[in-house]
Amino acid sequence: MSRDATDSDPDLLREAREAVVEYAPALAGLTPGRTGNLSVRDGDAVAVTPTGVPYDSFGVDDVPLVDLDGERLAGRMAPSSEVPMHTGIYKHNRPGAIVHTHSPWATTMATLGRRLPPVHYMIVSVGREVPLADYAPYGTEELAANVVAAMAEADADAAILANHGLVVTGPDLETAVENTRHVEDLCRLYLRASATGEPNLLTDDQLATVEARFESYGQQPDAE
Ligand code: 13P
Ligand code: ZN
Repeated sequence: MSRDATDSDPDLLREAREAVVEYAPALAGLTPGRTGNLSVRDGDAVAVTPTGVPYDSFGVDDVPLVDLDGERLAGRMAPSSEVPMHTGIYKHNRPGAIVHTHSPWATTMATLGRRLPPVHYMIVSVGREVPLADYAPYGTEELAANVVAAMAEADADAAILANHGLVVTGPDLETAVENTRHVEDLCRLYLRASATGEPNLLTDDQLATVEARFESYGQQPDAE
């Protein structure tokens, strides 16, 4: 076991592993059983959920830490089978955190082989669409490459994984989990609207206006 990454800044890495323990239970409400996974990056190290265990059944010392090549650095449990997808996304996009689910509405889109178009302004949280990544078996470099390519082409912070599920990135786990919920809700909205008619889509101009307005949305620091 290499020790350099864990020893270089143990407190920060502990924080990342604590964040995994804190946010993993959120997966329980989003994805069936032991499916899905999440991770948070600290420099070139990634704290990730352990593979195949319930999301409320592990502690900080169990949380696996890997480097960006997927080499295990620390943690009592074996890391998620989707480490190649997480490290692949971190290497290309450098987000702070990643959430992967088999959440039902996004996965319905995944089985239909559909991208999520801009049916509602909240899509701007992750881009102007959520692209569809081509199918590849779970846990493979091929899936990682397909996801990275789809996100890059659409300039999006999320992708639907054909016949599999959803992946969403963010600056931190709180945002990535929140945006996962947004995308899941938008997939539900899109599928419900599509069952009745043809949803109207926002134009690029309309999306650009929302992007500009999002810059100052919410509580702002007091102006001096
Ligand atoms: P892990 O339990 O190995 O994270 O796998 C779950 C999953 O969703 C694979 O795509
Ligand atoms: Zn999966």
